[in-house]
Amino acid sequence: MTEGPTARYKAWLVYSKLGGKIVKRISAKSRRVNIDLQELLGKKFTGFDTYGKNILFIFERYGIRLHLMMYGTIHIYGEGEELRKDPKLIKLDITLDTHRLVVYNAPIVEIDYAYTLTRRLKKMVGEDPLRDDWDPERAMKLILRNQDKKIGEVLLDQRVIAGVGNILRNEILFRARIHPDRLVRELNKEDVKRIVDISEKLLREWFELKKRGEKISQTILIYGKSGKPCPVCGTPIRFYRQKPHNRRTYFCPKCQK
Ligand SMILES: [Zn+2]
Repeated sequence: MTEGPTARYKAWLVYSKLGGKIVKRISAKSRRVNIDLQELLGKKFTGFDTYGKNILFIFERYGIRLHLMMYGTIHIYGEGEELRKDPKLIKLDITLDTHRLVVYNAPIVEIDYAYTLTRRLKKMVGEDPLRDDWDPERAMKLILRNQDKKIGEVLLDQRVIAGVGNILRNEILFRARIHPDRLVRELNKEDVKRIVDISEKLLREWFELKKRGEKISQTILIYGKSGKPCPVCGTPIRFYRQKPHNRRTYFCPKCQK
């Protein structure tokens, strides 16, 4: 499961290894190739960005957008190194100088001009705490637009806080002491601000831990801990699948109201 911090970490890792290198070969298996791939030959890998769970690799004026969803993976192979997965699963294969960047199984590989992809991504996703343009005030407004929805559902909507996946939303609501079934209209301004502040803190913490090679499991307080004592009050953690998306939901019946 790739949540925002994992997507950003993967993008950062690829760029830290291959940034500045030149495209020598490229092939893609995708219906979203909107330019002639040959135009990318000779172009330099100049940057990366992420929008929630979307990764954007930039090659001068061109861009490649990836969404890994559940099963997509990115591999870097050195010169002469053998592929470690079935070549039939390859969605994108780029030789950058002597290295090979191979993306397997990603459901979205979109190739276009970088500005076109950027413009589209900005419309597609909400506020992302990992981006420089993060605007917490706007994130609060985006939550408050969903008055009649459950906060647990709203936090999964990538058009609200981008990059929050199922584990993060459980951990955010536990820390904010808010029950996932509470409707947005039942929350006061302080509740919404607390949710936004904790989201920012936790997403950034995950990204930093990953960069340092440390495990994020140390930050998991309730996800997957059904029946175990709440780390705050000792009450057993409860589990259910929240409608309408049937996502795995954990909460402390005493701490979260
Ligand atoms: Zn508790």
